[in-house]
Amino acid sequence: MNWINIVWPMIASSILTLALLHLIVWFKQKQQRAHLFFSITAISVAFINGMELIVMRSVSLNEVVFLLRWVQVPLLTIWVAIICYVRCFNTGRLWLAYMVCILRVCALILDFTTGQNLFFSEITSLKQVAILGGETITIAQGVLNPWYILGPVSMLALLVFMIDASITLWHQGTDTARRRAVIFSCIAFFLLVSVGQAVLVNVGLIHSPYLASISFMPTLFVMSHELSYDVIRSAKLAQSLQISENELRRSEQRMELAMTAAELGLWEWDIVHDHIWCTDQARVLYGINKTERIDFERVLKTLHHEDCEPTRLTITTLLAGCDNYEGEYRVILPDNQIRWLAVRSRIEYNHHQQPLRIIGVSIDITKRKQADLDMQKQRNALTHLSRVTVLGELSGALAHELNQPLAAILSNAQAAQRFLTSENNHLDEVHDILQDIVDEDKRAADIIQRLRLILKNADIQFRPLNVNYVVLDVLKLVNSDLKHRGVTVNSDLSSDIPLVTADNVLLQQVLLNLIMNACDAVSDTDCIEHRQIHIHTQWTGTATQVAVKDYGTGIKKDDMEHIFERFFTTKAQGMGLGLAICRTIIDAHKGQLWAENNNGGGASFYFTLPSYYGETT
Ligand code: ADP
Repeated sequence: MNWINIVWPMIASSILTLALLHLIVWFKQKQQRAHLFFSITAISVAFINGMELIVMRSVSLNEVVFLLRWVQVPLLTIWVAIICYVRCFNTGRLWLAYMVCILRVCALILDFTTGQNLFFSEITSLKQVAILGGETITIAQGVLNPWYILGPVSMLALLVFMIDASITLWHQGTDTARRRAVIFSCIAFFLLVSVGQAVLVNVGLIHSPYLASISFMPTLFVMSHELSYDVIRSAKLAQSLQISENELRRSEQRMELAMTAAELGLWEWDIVHDHIWCTDQARVLYGINKTERIDFERVLKTLHHEDCEPTRLTITTLLAGCDNYEGEYRVILPDNQIRWLAVRSRIEYNHHQQPLRIIGVSIDITKRKQADLDMQKQRNALTHLSRVTVLGELSGALAHELNQPLAAILSNAQAAQRFLTSENNHLDEVHDILQDIVDEDKRAADIIQRLRLILKNADIQFRPLNVNYVVLDVLKLVNSDLKHRGVTVNSDLSSDIPLVTADNVLLQQVLLNLIMNACDAVSDTDCIEHRQIHIHTQWTGTATQVAVKDYGTGIKKDDMEHIFERFFTTKAQGMGLGLAICRTIIDAHKGQLWAENNNGGGASFYFTLPSYYGETT
């Protein structure tokens, strides 16, 4: 068996295997059309390979004539497939491509219409040529077809197309583009070699077997290399995608764990389709079972009836253009338990500013809310205790204050008794006495009423009120105590202050504390002129300000930053709670409380309260 019979079929089978592989790739990924064009090129080369073998072994003139004519068909498909292959990489001029194809089609037409084929007008004989290894092969000889030049011309046109495509790619400058530019130049070179060799054999310039299929091998190899490069790259990408997917899954698991531990529920509301996706934890938080489909109304249904409408209103308002939604609401669980949830979320819009989706987290804050509630209760209890303590300090003076009307009532009643037992008619006097008794009784009742009010541990009630009246009420209460301690109070209450929103009793408590502290501070001074407290109210332009000024000891520099702390006291019998509670109360009224030492001695305590009407009056 001679070597040509072995080598040529081997080449054909390897080319066909390659073609099949790429055909399968194309079949699986239809958009990768370069694989299809490569396969067409390879199959055409395999055809040429078979024809070559038959021609080299042929002894029949007719057979050679037939094959040399039909070889133009696979040559045309190679040309077209290579052009399409190059165009798959978005390069190569279209008009050049058409020109090459037209030339090749013309060559095919002339192949069938002129002479015996495109090479020969007439094949006169078959020549047996000895080649390497003592083998002989058949070569056709005859009169050349003048149109045969169209073959090399179309070859040159293809070369121009390929080189132009390479230059375009090279100028793109990226690594991939430049690699492809080199590949296309190589394809052009190998094409030139393979076709050129066949032409030279036919023209009779060289005596060798047809090597077109062998010399097409490098062309196919380079084409396949470029494609396999993409296949390898996508395999690598797939691998790194797999790694990223694993990483993503792990990080999702970690996040799920963290969210479960933090009792966080993640959710996403697709506003357009009104569908809410959420994690299992979120379903647990809202008391919704695992399989139920969730939409906005379903979530609203889980809310406490007092929170439902405000939440709906807030969200629909925010969807008009806000980026975030934050809120707190109560959820009623299936077993009727109440759960407090805090929500933080981000709203996304399309380019027409229509809301697309909200992504958010919900967190269980029931424990915090409960703690807040407990703290509030404790704060109230402490505030009340402090009030009772301050009033306790006043009790001596208050007893005295109450004694006066009671003594007056007593002496009036005794006088009335005397008048009634006397024989003269003193009805007018008795009438006056009874009026006095009523007045004194009213005074006593007034004092008791005021005390009861302030001692009561009622809920906070914010109402519009005039601070001046609060000051006057408190002064009535402390008046006797101040007198008893030899302290005088001057008040300068502005009539131009607006109403403030405040709780009357709590504000009284603040003033009571400040006045009692001022009283303590001035009681220590021996100088009678210094036993004075000055109370001043005014509108600062932004808030109502109340000042309690004394001429007492003042506050030491080091103590200044501590006096508002709980349990800070410089007094032997002090609790150190008064100012801390005052600050909490004023904070709750959205005001400020602070202290300053006066230039001429003593200290001033100021507090401000925002106007009921806002910043303008
Ligand atoms: P307490 O009166 O029980 O000490 P407070 O919280 O009311 O508690 O006051 C804390 C401290 O602030 C007082 O012990 C005192 O040192 C200081 N202080 C408060 N008011 C005045 C004032 N008008 N002049 C000087 N020091 C004051």
